[in-house]
Amino acid sequence: MNLILLGPPGAGKGTQAKMLVETYQIPQISTGDILRAAVKDGTTLGKEARSYMDKGQLVPDSVVIGIVEERLQQPDCKTGYMLDGFPRTVPQAEALDGMLQNLGSEIDHVVSIEVDNEELVKRLTGRRTCRECGAGFHVMFDPPKQEGVCDKCGGELYQRDDDNVETVTSRLQVYESQTMPLIDYYKTQGKVRPIEGVGEIKEVFNRVTQVLS
Ligand code: AMP
Repeated sequence: MNLILLGPPGAGKGTQAKMLVETYQIPQISTGDILRAAVKDGTTLGKEARSYMDKGQLVPDSVVIGIVEERLQQPDCKTGYMLDGFPRTVPQAEALDGMLQNLGSEIDHVVSIEVDNEELVKRLTGRRTCRECGAGFHVMFDPPKQEGVCDKCGGELYQRDDDNVETVTSRLQVYESQTMPLIDYYKTQGKVRPIEGVGEIKEVFNRVTQVLS
């Protein structure tokens, strides 16, 4: 199964993606994760991407298209994959269609997770992640027992550089202007599966698996 997970930042794409990976045994391709890893490693790609990411802007299409093109050719994508955070612009979607045509493949479903902006700002600005084990917490919805300390491994919790109020606002504006048009793009292909993204994580996951079955 070849999937795209679409939704504004904070809609829960990453969380749902991890559960889908286990259920369907397909790799998650998250351009955000790939770019963050490059920033952390200080590579040329990371240095270029950082200036955009810190401002909540999109990294240029040519850069992310190249990353995804290379990743889709890996052997683990042969039986399916889930794109998380890509495509994010119409030119990226067009490039993806071209790549898939060359590979003799196509997208089966575009899962569009919907959450309103007020809820998204609350979710994003309260997110905390463990530096050691990567576990996720939320200062309001899922607080750790001790502030700033991971319940699972005792590691230090940090806030993603782009989860401050200013950058979050900019990321939401970018989503509306550049990524929302993708819904119409995929609607014309009959592939959009809208999902209400508010509620328990498991509830949302059940909605997703229902539309995929
Ligand atoms: P995410 O973790 O998906 O919210 O992505 C974090 C940041 O990485 C975004 O705000 C962008 O700066 C950059 N990014 C991730 N995916 C893309 C993409 N497909 N196109 C352009 N920029 C991206």
